[in-house]
Amino acid sequence: MPLEIDVLTLFPEMVSGPLGASIPGRIQERGIATIRTHDLRQWGIGRHRSVDDAPYGGGAGMVMRPEPIADGIDVVRRHDSLVILLDPAGEVFSQSRAHDLAGRPHLVLVCARYEGVDDRIRSLVDLELSIGDYVLTGGELPALVVIDSVIRLLPGAIDELSTTEESFAAGLLEYPQYTRPPSFRGLDVPAILTSGDHGAVARWREEQARARTAERRPDLPLPPEPEVRTRRRR
Ligand code: SAM
Repeated sequence: MPLEIDVLTLFPEMVSGPLGASIPGRIQERGIATIRTHDLRQWGIGRHRSVDDAPYGGGAGMVMRPEPIADGIDVVRRHDSLVILLDPAGEVFSQSRAHDLAGRPHLVLVCARYEGVDDRIRSLVDLELSIGDYVLTGGELPALVVIDSVIRLLPGAIDELSTTEESFAAGLLEYPQYTRPPSFRGLDVPAILTSGDHGAVARWREEQARARTAERRPDLPLPPEPEVRTRRRR
């Protein structure tokens, strides 16, 4: 069963365009994920299909009215859906959340614009996600970030080793990677990588990943060392 994703947005082309290229495009062509976009304006109010209004209490900008978003959610929501609002006040998106979403049958992503949504919309969604502590003009780029990171984790999407050995997969940043040439502007590929000793390469990568994580992301707790290495040391 493919993962199905419905995106509610005022700018459907901002979402569908990038997802048609490269790996996300191939994932869809192969039927691993199905992504549909829906123009929120079709549920807009009145002759002008209005979707926003001035904030009660005054203040800058416009706020998205709740009815068009609620109507859109009502149309696409199923019994097995997870409805997600992209919002700077949401849970900060992470690789573990991406794995969680990749195991769901149906995602609904709600992209806001202007000053964001009428707060009553929060009671209609199952989850709010932020892609980081900065503010974008709309939820389309955050939705793309979430979709891209989720669909590449689906079975058959890409080489499975790529997703088990990459950054965050085991709670660590990825080890340093090298390709040809063996020497580049005076910088040599570490000799251990061309030694042919697969065990030594694995141990070196684990150590490098730990050192890089400790140095660059001291906020990430280091996972316990693998059994095999702990035993070897005794
Ligand atoms: N007034 C809002 C605030 O201060 O939190 C910001 C609204 S922003 C200009 C418009 C929309 O872009 C948001 O409602 C949300 O859908 C999306 N957005 C902006 N930054 C985001 C982020 N870091 N993560 C997720 N969505 C974001």
